[in-house]
Amino acid sequence: PAISAAPVSGREEALERALRPKLLQEYVGQAKAREQLEIFIGAARKRREALDHVLLFGPPGLGKTTLSHIIAAELGVHLHQTSGPVLEKPRDLAALLTNLEQGDVLFIDEIHRLSPVVEEILYPALEDYQIDIMIGEGPAARSIKLDLQPFTLVGATTRAGMLTNPLRDRFGIVARLEFYTAEELARIVSRSAGLLSVPIDAEASLEVARRSRGTPRIANRLLRRIRDYADVKGNGRITLEMAQKALAMLDVDPLGFDVMDRKLLEAVLHRFDGGPVGLDNVAASIGEERDTIEDVIEPYLIQQGFLQRTPRGRIATQAAYRHFGLLVPERKAG
Ligand code: ADP
Repeated sequence: PAISAAPVSGREEALERALRPKLLQEYVGQAKAREQLEIFIGAARKRREALDHVLLFGPPGLGKTTLSHIIAAELGVHLHQTSGPVLEKPRDLAALLTNLEQGDVLFIDEIHRLSPVVEEILYPALEDYQIDIMIGEGPAARSIKLDLQPFTLVGATTRAGMLTNPLRDRFGIVARLEFYTAEELARIVSRSAGLLSVPIDAEASLEVARRSRGTPRIANRLLRRIRDYADVKGNGRITLEMAQKALAMLDVDPLGFDVMDRKLLEAVLHRFDGGPVGLDNVAASIGEERDTIEDVIEPYLIQQGFLQRTPRGRIATQAAYRHFGLLVPERKAG
């Protein structure tokens, strides 16, 4: 199967946790987000106040969960972790909120997927550290106010545009995570290799980095697969040649595009004549969810300049034609 940036559960997640940097200092890249957080965390600590609520947004696998753990660690408080779809009822969220201790961090992943009734009780919690809950049922039901300890909400989402305005407005700190450069990813690969006790050459780290779609989660996943390959086909050391062979076997092309990336670009190029084509048509054509295309596949292709998002639909760029060895057509009229 393709190595994607989508999160998974179980054993893979335990491995991921083991590779997670614990402090801001070890967190590679994202200079802008890191600088902001360093200052605001420092100020909150100095004043012994809860840190302002933080919204982290960006494609999957760029380090949002990692950063939420780091924020709690740097503040010296507990982290409570949940996600939008898990909080089905207002009382699920109320139970979490009333359990928070002074200054704690509540991390809500996929915060854009909170149901409206749950989101509703979050507003006063964020604003005044208070919630209104219903006690009893029927005619005897009444609403009571509960005070909460001051806390910090860290919300993560793949697209900030999917949040409702009232929710977005309640975050004092908003950080957008960017795709990593090859050099940054090479540092992450070398660090992970060290933690996994895998010998790897510097050129090999850079090669894995270049082919990881700008995403640490993918870099770490590729590293583990290449380690298997080097164990079986060689003596365990990951050389440049070993990395290249393993990456070819894994169907990761020289630009780091995986099977899904190529499928999408080829559909736009061949079936829709290079576009413009609407997202729903692309989704139907390649048998993929619209959201997956928008959140997981497309952002990197757009950032790399292979695909363009226009009001009339998606368009394959000249770089896409060239990558697939096609003649770049004369600019279409209109
Ligand atoms: P997200 O929550 O954005 O989907 P995660 O925080 O779960 O992403 O990160 C995925 C993996 O990538 C983690 O296991 C972590 O080891 C690694 N990672 C992410 N960001 C960094 C970073 N800046 N430096 C080092 N490793 C990172």
